[in-house]
Parts: sequence; structure tokens; C-alpha cells
Amino acid sequence: MGAPEAFTQTTDVCHWIGGAPARGTGTRTQTVWNPTTGAAARQVLLASEADVAAAVASAKAAQPAWGDMAPIRRARVLNAFLGLLNQHRDTLAAMITAEHGKVFSDAQGEVTRGIDIVEFACGIPQLLKGDFSDQASSGIDNWTLRQPLGVVAGITPFNFPCMVPAWMFPVALACGNAFILKPSERDPSPSVFMADLLKQAGLPDGVFNVVQGDKVAVDALLAHPDVRAVSFVGSTPIAHYIYETGARHGKRVQALGGAKNHMVVMPDADLEQAVDALIGSAYGSAGERCMAISVAVLVGNVADRIMPRLAERAKGLKIKNGLEADAEMGPIVTREARDRIERMIGVGVEEGAKLVVDGRGHKVPGHENGFFTGGTLFDHVTPAMRIYKEEIFGPVLACVRAKDMAEALKLVNEHEFGNGVACFTSDGGTAREFARRVQIGMVGINVPIPVPMAWQGFGGWKRSLFGDMHAYGEEGVRFYTRQKSVMQRWPDASSSKGAEFAMPVAR
Ligand code: NAD
Repeated sequence: MGAPEAFTQTTDVCHWIGGAPARGTGTRTQTVWNPTTGAAARQVLLASEADVAAAVASAKAAQPAWGDMAPIRRARVLNAFLGLLNQHRDTLAAMITAEHGKVFSDAQGEVTRGIDIVEFACGIPQLLKGDFSDQASSGIDNWTLRQPLGVVAGITPFNFPCMVPAWMFPVALACGNAFILKPSERDPSPSVFMADLLKQAGLPDGVFNVVQGDKVAVDALLAHPDVRAVSFVGSTPIAHYIYETGARHGKRVQALGGAKNHMVVMPDADLEQAVDALIGSAYGSAGERCMAISVAVLVGNVADRIMPRLAERAKGLKIKNGLEADAEMGPIVTREARDRIERMIGVGVEEGAKLVVDGRGHKVPGHENGFFTGGTLFDHVTPAMRIYKEEIFGPVLACVRAKDMAEALKLVNEHEFGNGVACFTSDGGTAREFARRVQIGMVGINVPIPVPMAWQGFGGWKRSLFGDMHAYGEEGVRFYTRQKSVMQRWPDASSSKGAEFAMPVAR
């Protein structure tokens, strides 16, 4: 296979309203960077309140007919979209590498995980089947059905510009809603590309809209009375804000937040496997994954055995342009994010953690202005340190030492975040006990990044998720529909008993 083709568009990234690209009325724009070269690549339009109102109006007009369509016909549109996504997977992946910086194979994996959700959503006729109670009372049947909410919105982060929107819109559309996506302004191009593919697949105009933008667009969506539900994925402070503000405006909200995922390595773990898992999950995608491992909890004598190997591997990471076939790690998304990560490494040093590998100031030949940093490894990190408590969201692995499983569990359970966790062990009993006792939403046993499959649902606990329902899977179907219960009787005149004043009970 030849080298993937780079995404080099220079024209502005527009909104997508009413089935076509739209420039809207907003006059503000923001630069989208090429993090590999450090150069400005293109501008993204930033929506005004009027642009959001236009998108909502378009969605509101299109939704009733879409919601009334037989679910199997909606599934056929999604099935055509699935075919197009598979056909254009590498184009999307190259777009992601160009704007986010992650390596191409990782971007391909992201698109594939998004495709999984579309495949799941194609099963919507089965997923929307309700319950039926024949003869709930004498001559009366009772059944439930699930109906769409109307217009719903999704607000997504920079780190998965294709997969995270795909956690939301395929399920929302399959359920019969119209959808408005507000993608990250840092890597906006995949959103409009997917909108175009949906149109090609036969989705009626207005059912899927994209508003590019920042807080102005988000606040307009949160306040708009015709937006019934909001799905959000991003950092914890913003997730909390979205949850509170959306609820105040009477909306259903699921808001997924940040993380500090621990991997507990027990003394009986296969050390080679544990090293591979830690290196891949701490430094893959430059640590910019909500399921990245950022803390290694090394139990008993593991630390002394594993640290030299981790150090060697962290120093040897192949950090380069993500389009190069052997790249293991690309740049950080923006200069500001890179500088913030490097400042946090300085904080760790001041706090007294042992800096084993220092990634600061890493330069990639030929890309000296790119937003690169190297892999960083800390040992002797303690729970009181900021580098333990706060999400750094970069390629920084903090190693903490624990004397036994009880101490390791206590650490994990007392952390404010509860997204993902992993335990590496060769003992089934230890693994089972860990999975049962740990206060975390997604658990991996000898699996470092336990992102649930499309039909299982994704969500953390504690300050990693505000709201009741996880993303996608059956929880996603529940989130994007509301239940209706119908009780039905077809009485003939002879069975009429006149007015009844007591609470009706089954007869
Ligand atoms: P972010 O919170 O900065 O931005 C997320 C979205 O919110 C973007 O669309 C952005 O435009 C918007 N936004 C930003 N500031 C806002 C404000 N003040 N008011 C209203 N809207 C605002 O997150 P990010 O930097 O794009 O993404 C990284 C974060 O996302 C990390 O914290 C990561 O852990 C988290 N994340 C979580 C999950 C999960 O499933 N829990 C998945 C992916 C990413």
C-alpha cells in the first residue's frame, strides 16, 4: 500500500444546514492548524446565534416526516451511509491526521469504531420493538412504544472528530430524530464530510445539520427551546456546565467528561504484556484519549522490575508525522495544548516526583515548528500531587507504587474521575474481585483500553459522566427516544358498565 494522501484543503470549513454547505451570518472565524508543521491550514467559521437558529429551524421542519418513516427505511439510509463510510474511510482518516495529528493507522481505527456504531444503528427496527401485554385486564391490552424526541444536538471534543460524533448521530437519526452537530473547532473537517456522505446516502435535507463554532454556538443550542436533548463529550468543567445549563432549560442531557485512567499491575502479571499495554495506552494518540492510561499503579515488587523497561520504551518512541508508516506518536493538537502539557511536567518536577524520561522540547527533524512533545515518564508520584489529581491529556505516564491490591483499589476508588481502569494479573480471583469492587464505569482485565463495543454502551462514573445514560448501545436508543404506554379497549355497547369512580384495577 502506498503512503496515504494528505488532506490539504485550504478553503474555509463551513456549516451544513438544510442539506448543503452554508456560510451563515456569523463573521468570526478561527484558524485550524496543521499540528505536524505548525502552520495555519484553513479557517473554520464560527456560528452566530442566528446560524444556530437557522439550523434548528431546518431540523425542526424536516424531523416530522423522518420520524414518521418506517424504521426499516431509516435503517436503509444508514446502511447506504455505512457503505460510503467504508469506501471513504481513508479519506476521513487522512483528514483526522491532518487536523488532530494522530498517526494514520490510529485514525483508521477511529473511523472503524465509528462505523461499528452505524452498523449497530442499522438494526433499529429490532431495537425499537416495544412490549405488549395481551389481556392486561379483561378486554384491555397495554403496550409500550418508543418515539423520537424531535431535534437533538451533539457537542463533541477534538480528540475523536469522527468517532465521538458517531457515538451520537447514527443512533439519534435511526430513532427518528433530526440532529445538530457542533464539532470541535480544532478539527472540524470530518463533520461536513460526513454530512455530505449522509446526503449522498439519501438522508432528507435538514435531518442532519452541522454548526461550526465555539461557546456562542453551544450556548445558543443549550437555550433553544426546540432542542430537546443534548449529548456532550469533552472536559469535566464544560460537561458539568452543559449538564446544569441544559437541565435548567428543560433538556435531557448526557455529558461525558474527563478522565484519569489507572492501570493496576499486579506482581503476577505478565510483565511483557503489561509493558506493551502501558506504552501503547499512555502514548498512543499522544495521550489525547479519554481512555488513555495516565497512571500506572505498580503493586508490590512490580515497580523495580518494570520501570527500566518502561523508560527504555518511552525513550525509543517513534515520534513523527502521523502519515509516515512507522510513526507511533504524532504531535499534540495545538501549540497551547503542547505548552500546557509541558508546564504540567514542570509542576510534577516541582512537586518532587521523579522525572525518569523528560519529553519536553522534543524536536522532529523536518518539522521543527510542529507541536511535538516527547513521551514523559514519572516515578514515585503520590496522590497529593497535581500531576496525579488533574487530567493532563498528553503523553505523560505517572507511576504510583502500592503495597497490595487493597491499596491500589483505594487509590482508584478515591479519584474524582471514573472513566476507565485496567488490571493486569494472571489470577482469575484477583481479576474478578477487582472488577466487582472498582468504582469505575469501564473496566479492562488484561485489556488496557476497554472501550465498549457499539452494542454495549460507553460511559464513566463519578465526575466522568453527568446524566443517567451512557452513549450508544441500548442506552443510546433510550436516550434518544421517550416511552409511550398505550392502553386499549374496544368495548361493545353491552359490556359498558357506566362511570367508574374507583381506581381501575386488573379484572
Ligand atoms: P473541551 O471541553 O474543551 O471541548 C469540548 C466541546 O465543548 C467542544 O465542542 C468545544 O467547542 C466546547 N466548549 C469548549 N469550551 C466551552 C465553553 N466554555 N462553553 C461551551 N462550550 C465549550 O474538550 P476538548 O479539549 O475538545 O477534548 C478533550 C477533553 O474531552 C478531555 O478532557 C477528555 O478526557 C474529554 N473526552 C472525554 C470522553 C469521554 O467519553 N468521557 C471522550 C473524549 C474526550
